[in-house]
Amino acid sequence: MNFDVITIFPDFFAGPLSHGMVFQAQKRGLIDVRIHDLRDFTTDRHRTVDDRPFGGGAGMVLKPEPLFRAIRKIQAEKMASARKVILLTPQGKRFQQRIAFQFSSLDQAVLICGRYEGVDERVTECLVDEELSIGDYVLSGGELAACVFVDAVTRLLPGVLNNSSSAVNESFATLEGSLSSAEGSLLDYPHYTRPEEFEGQRVPEVLLCGSHKRVELWRRKKALEKTLKNRPDLLQYTALSEEDKQLLG
Ligand code: SAM
Repeated sequence: MNFDVITIFPDFFAGPLSHGMVFQAQKRGLIDVRIHDLRDFTTDRHRTVDDRPFGGGAGMVLKPEPLFRAIRKIQAEKMASARKVILLTPQGKRFQQRIAFQFSSLDQAVLICGRYEGVDERVTECLVDEELSIGDYVLSGGELAACVFVDAVTRLLPGVLNNSSSAVNESFATLEGSLSSAEGSLLDYPHYTRPEEFEGQRVPEVLLCGSHKRVELWRRKKALEKTLKNRPDLLQYTALSEEDKQLLG
């Protein structure tokens, strides 16, 4: 999958792209991330990307011309059968695991990082396929949101995670182990590692008993309890099985 990120701070991405799973996925050729400096698409001496808002008010707005040029160049460079142009914005649809899963079937995601008050609305109207927000708070720029998008989508691509850390065993997979549904997902169960005892706290005995069946039941119970405690909204549309109801007590 190809990610094309348009930003006024291209150096921002050096760290996030050169560590861990996203780095490995690039090295293995599973993803290609290209960072485009919006200032390279300006035509004036000062490489101006922003201007004052019509109608007055605080802050600056990213001008349409450099963004139109950047997006059109990226679109012209590559034949992509499944491409989306995505604007990161707090006004967007909330980015969630199931949406990350849907985007993982794309060939190319073009990510626009806003700054200041945001981007000229004509960019959104004419060129943007999806507006995405990573949460109900306001960041100072879309770069962090773009990193979140690249990371969350990359780990769902075939071959990126090994089987033992498969995404269907993680938070937000559905009760049936699917990633595509909006409803009925659980949070992950608690994890423990060595030492068996730390500052008087012992690892739950069931995890040491060697019975795969008992471990699975315990994990299911803990995932249900954690979801009910921290994110009851995830369960509200879900018909729990009789076994799940018994596990919750
Ligand atoms: N005036 C905008 C508003 O109130 O909706 C906020 C602009 S914000 C200061 C600057 C840029 O940060 C946005 O254009 C967007 O690209 C990015 N941004 C801020 N919060 C975000 C969020 N929750 N999700 C995705 N992008 C965000």
